[in-house]
Amino acid sequence: MDYQQCISNNYHQVCQNIEKAANKSGRNTEEIKIIAVTKKQPVEVIKAAYACGMRKFGENYAEEGIKKIIALNQLVDIEWHMIGHIQSRKTKLVCEGYHYVHSLDSLKLAGKLNTICMQKQRRLPVLLEVNVSGEISKNGFKAEDLSDWQKLLVTIDQLASFDNIEIQGLMTMPPLTANPQESINCFRMMRELQIFLQNNRPIINWKELSMGTSFDYEVAIEHGATMVRIGEAILGPRIN
Ligand SMILES: *Cc1c(COP(=O)(O)O)cnc(C)c1O
Repeated sequence: MDYQQCISNNYHQVCQNIEKAANKSGRNTEEIKIIAVTKKQPVEVIKAAYACGMRKFGENYAEEGIKKIIALNQLVDIEWHMIGHIQSRKTKLVCEGYHYVHSLDSLKLAGKLNTICMQKQRRLPVLLEVNVSGEISKNGFKAEDLSDWQKLLVTIDQLASFDNIEIQGLMTMPPLTANPQESINCFRMMRELQIFLQNNRPIINWKELSMGTSFDYEVAIEHGATMVRIGEAILGPRIN
């Protein structure tokens, strides 16, 4: 089987699984978006995914992604999502090439993105990356307990003063363990945090919840994910 056929089969299987998970939790499949994670995948693979109907692609490294963005700029309706940590010196690349940022993880980064977007006269939709599990290896705003959540409100008020970035929700990376119960705890807490923020800062529409990868997207959907970031389950193994 060639890789085009293989990606197509995987995609349809994942779509079916998403539909099942959505039905199980009484949700509308329409509100769940697949972000196909294309890090370490060549442009041929992205073209094949596009041919299957995928339109939203996620990259982790600004530089690696921008090469593909340029190479594929003929593909209409394509949407590039930045899902990895953004280094300060890469903020310009991100504002130039990407449509959406999942990994806003500091006030400083927000300030930089805002300044460049202002110069470029664009508005950048973003998600706040949060760390609800307390794993030190992870990026994101600390959001382990209620006192962190209260502090986060202060940060959000500062972020809200940046007119050229638009907060649309939250993102998290799953715990690094393979223990499914830990993922569930994490997703549950994300959903609670989303509701807390919606109640306490209703001026922002906290509609998006970006969580779940190849391993746990179905559980993520059962807990309210609106964006699932799926790499290998659709596109196959990454080249290193
Ligand atoms: C790589 C990656 C994914 C997707 O991982 P898969 O296991 O290939 O589905 C999702 N989110 C982020 C931030 C990633 O770096």
